[in-house]
Amino acid sequence: MPPAPPNDLFSLDLEGLTAAMAGWNEPAYRARQVMDWVYRRRVANPAEMSDLPRILRERLAEEFPGRPPSVARVQGAADTTRKYLFALADGRFVESVLIPASPALYGEPSDRRTLCVSTQVGCAYGCKFCASGLDGWTRNLSPGEIVAQLLAVENAAKEKVNNLVFMGMGEPLANYANLLRTIRILNAPWGVGLGARHITISTSGLAPQIETLAAEPLQVRLAVSLHGATDAVRNEIMPVNRRYPLAVLLAACEKFSRLRKQKITFEYILIAGVNDALDQARLLASHSRRLGAKINLIPYNTVEGLSWVRPPEAVQERFLSAVKAGGGLATLRREKGHDIDAACGQLRLQTERALRTGSDAPTQSV
Ligand code: SAH
Ligand code: SF4
Repeated sequence: MPPAPPNDLFSLDLEGLTAAMAGWNEPAYRARQVMDWVYRRRVANPAEMSDLPRILRERLAEEFPGRPPSVARVQGAADTTRKYLFALADGRFVESVLIPASPALYGEPSDRRTLCVSTQVGCAYGCKFCASGLDGWTRNLSPGEIVAQLLAVENAAKEKVNNLVFMGMGEPLANYANLLRTIRILNAPWGVGLGARHITISTSGLAPQIETLAAEPLQVRLAVSLHGATDAVRNEIMPVNRRYPLAVLLAACEKFSRLRKQKITFEYILIAGVNDALDQARLLASHSRRLGAKINLIPYNTVEGLSWVRPPEAVQERFLSAVKAGGGLATLRREKGHDIDAACGQLRLQTERALRTGSDAPTQSV
């Protein structure tokens, strides 16, 4: 295992900080004061928390030396999708994508400013079409490194994010404990204050973790990256399907919908010649009907170095019509400007490869 990042303030919840500070003989209200600095006044450096005693400021800095990620690069104009490349304290990189309010997004009118955050450096799941998994998995992000992506983007963009999706680099359900801690911090009134209904977890299909998540008292939404309506197609592009084949995955999804009383979403990227045939559309519709699930059809975004491409628009539209004709609840993402909205993981891949010193990526068991 790679070394864990040092403790950082953003990784703590109020209970954790209160407990830590009780051990230093600090009164309980001090923890709230610190959270107020971090989440309301947006000050991360204890040295600047001017109403705390000096000795406490020093202790905080000492006990929580972890530095939040810093923005290394921004791509995209103010009124379009913007991509942020973050440098982590250990020199690794991850990406976040800010998607501005768009009436076309997900097919419904919306004033949502959606942020897509990363949960791991790299990804162990190795989907054949995805930039994030190309160099394997390096490490999990701490809750603080995930929360700090939102704080830094809000700070840089000078606007509030009101919708958050775990659809950046990494498989969120493979970093389960940190994901849950992150969500608690995002939800909390002393923290970011973002409602669970405005948070979506996307997974490539980790069936056992979907079932565990179903039992949590959390109203987060779930999106499942299906990308194929049969085992044959999923096996070709998503190695995770050999471990959790469709029947197992769909059973877990069904359980999630039932327990949570919530519609899940199937993400389905359209890749020319791979998963865009009409038999897939018909089967996809039948899975969607069975689970009452919504379907997001997303034209594939080309990844540097990979040969997959999206089908022509006419094929995309025909696929959409076939899904709808089969009774599936589907929308097709048609908005322009996909080049940057594209394929989270590419900016980081270019940057890390350029800086690489030759060491192999560690492995995470899948
Ligand atoms: N690991 C999780 C979440 C991160 S990926 C998952 O796989 O669901 C977020 C979404 O982006 C997934 O649906 C993934 O399949 C999709 N994706 C990956 N590469 C893409 C590309 N080049 N074009 C379009 N979508 C892509
Ligand atoms: Fe990992 Fe998701 Fe990319 Fe698959 S699609 S490699 S699970 S980030």
